[in-house]
Amino acid sequence: MKKVLVLGGGIGGVEAAIALRKEGFDVELVSDRDYVYIYPISIWIPTGETTLSDVSLPLGEVAMSHKFKFIKDKVISISASEGKVVLENFGEKTDFDYLVIAIGQTKLKHKGIEHTLSICGSPEETLEIRKRLEQLIDRGYGKLAFGFGGNPKAPEAVRGGPVFEVMFNVHNYLTKLGLRANFDITFFAPMPKPGARLGETALKMMDTMFRKMNIEKITGKKIKEFVEDGVILEDGTKIKSDLTIFTPAGDGHPVIKESDLPKTEAGFLKIEDSCQVEGFENIYAVGDVASIEGPDWRAKQGHLAEVMGRVTANNIAVKEGLKEGKIESYKPHINIMCLMDTGDGGALAYRSDKHALLIPLPVVGHWMKKAWGIYYKLSKLGKIPRLPGM
Ligand SMILES: Cc1cc2nc3c(=O)[nH]c(=O)nc-3n(C[C@H](O)[C@H](O)[C@H](O)COP(=O)(O)OP(=O)(O)OC[C@H]3O[C@@H](n4cnc5c(N)ncnc54)[C@H](O)[C@@H]3O)c2cc1C
Repeated sequence: MKKVLVLGGGIGGVEAAIALRKEGFDVELVSDRDYVYIYPISIWIPTGETTLSDVSLPLGEVAMSHKFKFIKDKVISISASEGKVVLENFGEKTDFDYLVIAIGQTKLKHKGIEHTLSICGSPEETLEIRKRLEQLIDRGYGKLAFGFGGNPKAPEAVRGGPVFEVMFNVHNYLTKLGLRANFDITFFAPMPKPGARLGETALKMMDTMFRKMNIEKITGKKIKEFVEDGVILEDGTKIKSDLTIFTPAGDGHPVIKESDLPKTEAGFLKIEDSCQVEGFENIYAVGDVASIEGPDWRAKQGHLAEVMGRVTANNIAVKEGLKEGKIESYKPHINIMCLMDTGDGGALAYRSDKHALLIPLPVVGHWMKKAWGIYYKLSKLGKIPRLPGM
C-alpha cells in the first residue's frame, strides 16, 4: 500500500486524509495542534456564544474513525528535491510515496500589528479578544475598531468575511447588554470598496446594515500604522480605539517561503489544476497554502480547501492505477459560498461567474451556521453520513 504523508490538520488536510483513506492509501497526518480548529464557527468566541472546545475537533478521534495515523508535531522544513520533511520532535521523515501540503497561510505583518488582535489568528488570540472585550464591557464604555487589509501580491488571500461577522455579533451582543450606546464602533479598510468581490448588491446591503447599526465606515485610506490607542491612516488621521480587531491579508507560510518548492511572490505554492505542485510528481498542495488561480473575485475558503483535498486524493489514486477515471481539477469548484452570520440572523453570500448574490436569512441564518458546525464535527467523525458536496 502506497503511503501518503499529509502536513497540516486543518479543514483541507483532514479532508485530504479522509479522502485518501477512502482511496485505499496508508495515510499519516502531522499537525502542530491536536485538534482541527474549525475557523468558520470560531467567530462566536469573542461574544462568549461558543467556547474553544465547541470549535475544536480532536484529531486523534478523527484519525481513529478513518484509520489514519496522527502525529502531533511541527513541520520545521521541507526539502522537495531530497523528498524530506523535518519535524521539530520526530526529526527527518522520508518514509512516504506522496506528500500533501496543507499547512495553511500566515498573515502580513503591518507596523504596530502587536497593538491589534485578529479573529483569523491562533485560538489563543481569539480568546484574548474575548478577554479584552469583556474588560471593556465591565468598564461600561469604549471605542472598538474592526478592519481588514489587502495583499496586492495575492488578492485572493484577503479575508474580510469573518471581520464583518464578529463586528455584527459584537454590535448585537452590546445591544443585548443594553450597552451599545456607550460604545463607538468603526469599520476601516484600505480598499475603497471592501467586500466588492461579493458584488454591488451585497455592498449596498452592507451599507444599509452599517447605517442601521450605527457603525462608522472609513475606507479607501491606507493604514500607516497601528498604535496602542488606535489606527493611524496615511493622511495622518487617527481612528481612536480601545480594542482594534484587524485581520491582515494572508501571506505565504514561512516553511514554504524557506523551501525549495515553487512559490508565488507572496509565498504561496504554485500548483497545477490537479493540485499537484508544479514540477513535483509526488507533491500536492491543498487549501490556503496554495496559490489559487481564477477569476478576480476568487477567495480562499474552507469549502474550496475540502474540494482540493478530494481532488488530490482522486488524482493520486488515478495516477497509481487504483481506480479508473480522469484527473480532476479544482478550478470548476471555485466560487464564494459563505453563510455570513450577523448575530441575530445571517445572509448567504454566493459568487460565481454568473451570479453575485447576498440573500438575507433573518434569524434562521444564524441557526443554519450553528447547525453546519455540528454537521461538520459529526460527519468528520463518521457519526452521520456526508451530504453530497458538503
Ligand atoms: C475566522 C474565520 C472564519 C472563516 N469562515 C469561513 C466560512 O464561513 N466559510 C468558508 O468556506 N471558509 C471560511 N474561512 C476560511 C477557511 O477557514 C480556510 O480557508 C480554511 O481553514 C483553510 O483550510 P487549510 O486546511 O488550508 O488551513 P487551516 O485550516 O489554517 O489549517 C492549517 C493547519 O496546519 C497546521 N499547521 C500550520 N503550520 C504548521 C506547521 N509548521 N507544522 C504542522 N502543522 C502546521 C495548523 O495548526 C492547522 O491545523 C474562515 C476563516 C477564518 C480564519
